[in-house]
Amino acid sequence: MTTKMQAAVATRFRSPLAVTTVPVPAPGPGQVLVRVHACGVCHTDLHTVNGDWPVKPSLPRVPGHEAAGEVVEVGDLVREVAVGDRVGVPWLHSACGRCEQCLTGWETLCDKQTRTGYDVDGGFAEYVLADAAYVAHLPAAMDYLHAAPLMCAGLTVYKGMRMVDAAPGDWVVVSGIGGLGHLAVQYARAMGYQVVAVDIDDSKLDLAARLGASMTVNAKTTDPVSYLQRQLGGVHGALVTAVSPAAFSQAVGMMRPGGTVVLNGVPPGDFALNIYDIVMRAITMRGSIVGTRADLARALELAVQARIETVIHPAHLEDVNEVLDKMQKWPIPGRTVLEFGPR
Ligand code: NAD
Ligand code: ZN
Ligand code: ZN
Repeated sequence: MTTKMQAAVATRFRSPLAVTTVPVPAPGPGQVLVRVHACGVCHTDLHTVNGDWPVKPSLPRVPGHEAAGEVVEVGDLVREVAVGDRVGVPWLHSACGRCEQCLTGWETLCDKQTRTGYDVDGGFAEYVLADAAYVAHLPAAMDYLHAAPLMCAGLTVYKGMRMVDAAPGDWVVVSGIGGLGHLAVQYARAMGYQVVAVDIDDSKLDLAARLGASMTVNAKTTDPVSYLQRQLGGVHGALVTAVSPAAFSQAVGMMRPGGTVVLNGVPPGDFALNIYDIVMRAITMRGSIVGTRADLARALELAVQARIETVIHPAHLEDVNEVLDKMQKWPIPGRTVLEFGPR
């Protein structure tokens, strides 16, 4: 077993990651060591590296929470995972298992949780440590490259779409057709919704149309609020993954009376709401953060059954700074996935 590995390490906020050689970590009790074959690059990794959020990660930190790979070593007390298993390593690294949230199906809200690539080192590395109880088992039909983005992007929008609480046939907006959004369009279709895709980039909207959106709106050239009110009398729900506070206010304006807006995107900042409008039209707004292990198992299963297509762009660990730079204006739709060759 090799003792050194390549990893991309954040050492200062708003600075390039250092792609460097570090020791391979050893699994403690209850942990597994995963040889990473692929790791998606989520916009959250960019927020992490930029220190965008009020609660910042401690540095140095290896980002990456969409890892997929093979278990190569297991620590003491590990029973549910064996060497050779194909697993995914999601954002939720661990939770306490005992608090009210953990006991009521909301482990993602556990106060004592640790997060992969934020509180503990993540998948922008040749190997990553994971808690055996929190890894996902990959369906046999899925290769590592296409499975990786489902660990965060797929899981998050599967859960987010369920939180929209719409009925089959309802109109649902997906705002922001990036890594999350292109999967959200497909999960929404699989749940029986009619989808409107909103973005500010035509290439993203073309992809959304190919993946099943019935209607697309470029928010740069058309005001999506007046357009959707005119065309559809508003929509029943929206999932906002856009990295822009303006998109959140717009989503509220797109609602029919009684509609639900689910917030997935986490751009730093605030947005304004009109109290009268929310009350008189009885709009629901709710945040949604990734998903539980049970959600992840279902999201993976549904991806297989509904033939959900992860649109990926392979890149290498050495390209990670370029990938993060481009993410602000990434012209190619889908998810960039770091691919790790044979070692
Ligand atoms: P991404 O960069 O792949 O995609 C963002 C998309 O938003 C792009 O297609 C961009 O063109 C579009 N966009 C930008 N401004 C817009 C506007 N005004 N209107 C409509 N679309 C607009 O990012 P991603 O990886 O999909 O992540 C999206 C956001 O979701 C990030 O803030 C990320 O941190 C967050 N996120 C949240 C969770 C969660 O659990 N809540 C999980 C993962 C990611
Ligand atoms: Zn993510
Ligand atoms: Zn807990």
